[in-house]
Amino acid sequence: MKALTLLAVSAAFIFPFMKTDQAADLPDTVTVRLLEANGDPGRAQTVPTVKKSDSEWEKQLGREAYAVLRAKGTERAFCGTLLDNHKEGVYFCAGCDLPLFSSRSKFDSGTGWPSFFQPFAKENIAEISDTSYGMARTEILCARCGGHLGHVFDDGPAPTGLRFCLNSVSLKFRSFDEIKVAAAAQKPH
Ligand SMILES: [Zn+2]
Repeated sequence: MKALTLLAVSAAFIFPFMKTDQAADLPDTVTVRLLEANGDPGRAQTVPTVKKSDSEWEKQLGREAYAVLRAKGTERAFCGTLLDNHKEGVYFCAGCDLPLFSSRSKFDSGTGWPSFFQPFAKENIAEISDTSYGMARTEILCARCGGHLGHVFDDGPAPTGLRFCLNSVSLKFRSFDEIKVAAAAQKPH
């Protein structure tokens, strides 16, 4: 992590040298858990994956989110907007709006990146091995759109012992109050 941090302070984002076409690896459907109105995960259900061309993603996400989600860049430590967010709510994928993490599992890891000890639902996160920078790490991706989120390490707190290390720009936060209002607005009157 030290080498990563040193590299990161010199530029807005850092990138592995190899860029892969994530969309090509996505299946047509994936089984995930969507959000219930009370903020909990719903039943597992199979939904279509979200596939877009690079130029479509760039247009939708903007430069910063595209650099991380689609080109696997890493934010500078202590610079992400969600690091010190202590509100109660859910963190969604900035690419496809899948619920990925809950404030209930967020903790201060001291690393400078938002950290969680477990995902919103294990189905919603895909893991692949990442050997860039000469390190053996496990990369985490959004299971529905293949967007790069960060990495997971085994030095986290109880009860899982895991540390999901995220880029803020990969996530979109909504408070439980905002989620309730949105759910009520969708109910038929
Ligand atoms: Zn996604």
